[in-house]
Amino acid sequence: MSQLAPGRPDQIAADLRAAFERRYAAPATVVGRAPGRVNLIGEHTDYNRGLVLPLALPHATYVAVAPRTDGRARFASLQDDATWEGTLAEAGPGGPTGWAAYAAGVLWALGEAGVEVPGVDVLVDGRVPLGAGLSSSAALECSVAVAMLALAGRDLDDATRRLAIDACIRAETEVAGAPTGGMDQTVAVLGEPGAALLVDFDTDETRPVPLALDGLTLLVTDTRVSHELTDGGYAARRADCEAAAAELGVPSLRQADLAAVERISDERVRARARHVVTETDRVLPVAEALTRGDRDAVAELFAASHASMRDDFEISCDELDAAVAVAVEAGAVGARMTGGGFGGSSVALVPDERVEAVMRAIDTEFALRGFAAPAHLVAVPSAGAGTL
Ligand code: ADP
Ligand code: MG
Repeated sequence: MSQLAPGRPDQIAADLRAAFERRYAAPATVVGRAPGRVNLIGEHTDYNRGLVLPLALPHATYVAVAPRTDGRARFASLQDDATWEGTLAEAGPGGPTGWAAYAAGVLWALGEAGVEVPGVDVLVDGRVPLGAGLSSSAALECSVAVAMLALAGRDLDDATRRLAIDACIRAETEVAGAPTGGMDQTVAVLGEPGAALLVDFDTDETRPVPLALDGLTLLVTDTRVSHELTDGGYAARRADCEAAAAELGVPSLRQADLAAVERISDERVRARARHVVTETDRVLPVAEALTRGDRDAVAELFAASHASMRDDFEISCDELDAAVAVAVEAGAVGARMTGGGFGGSSVALVPDERVEAVMRAIDTEFALRGFAAPAHLVAVPSAGAGTL
């Protein structure tokens, strides 16, 4: 059974500082850290001005940085051999490609927001699995942002956190070209230990939701089916949602009700909108159920959410459906796919004493069906981005 440990932040940072010095022959000044996330409910609702309930993982991305005096930036990652080098002006849309777009794009976006961004050397070490629906992209962006803001002498107060979130969203959408909403960056910066984060994308209000997890484990299973959010499926879903809102004459699907949605003419667009409206309606009930420790309610709401993503939004796959079904058969309270979909991870709420059995049952099923071996991790609600 493969279980992915988050590692100790101080140890990871020390190792990264040593690797930075070997690579750039000078010490790092700051190490930024930002977590991956798992979303408990509210999928594809952020860009429809709906509700989401993610939590920050203990698994995070770390970046070591040191300022340069020539205004140039150099980026390298321990997870990818490709490097990027350029001026800050070159770090914007149409500039860096591949992974560097997410990282260097943040420098450009911070500059656009009026932050004095120096030239820098950057080395990344990510402990969030890449492309697994656990938001390694926002972890990368936000770790760069907090490190750069520290170099610029900014305290990480509420206003600076908001600025960081917005800059990271711009890097992902405008430089990397992934048309995602703002959930990932928001929780990577604002996540709190012991709590999930309720975000309302109509008002931009956020509220920590303390989780009653006594005797329960949030088990995440990475199916190893890698998604690619820049490749069209995500954008097509977004376009369907916009078409639905336009036909209904509302600014976003947050303002749509289910009765009106059921009258949408095109069957596919109608199903997409049905997912968004029903999914947003499930978010507050899940938050309440997880606060009270109401297992039956979680079971029912997770099942309805998974079915909606599989049948109406069509973003699941055989591996995700299998991980969810087997988790429940093996004793999970409830399970659903999580994240943008087209592969990635499932999340299950599992009684502590059933965790081993659930992992084993999923591994066995995957082996029987010829799927790649999955990786599991335990989602302990953890802190948002900071420096160390
Ligand atoms: P997710 O955010 O669910 O992990 P995405 O497709 O949004 O999936 O983002 C994954 C991409 O982010 C990777 O393909 C890579 O370009 C970039 N990335 C994330 N972490 C790292 C890292 N540590 N090193 C290099 N690239 C990274
Ligand atoms: Mg991502």
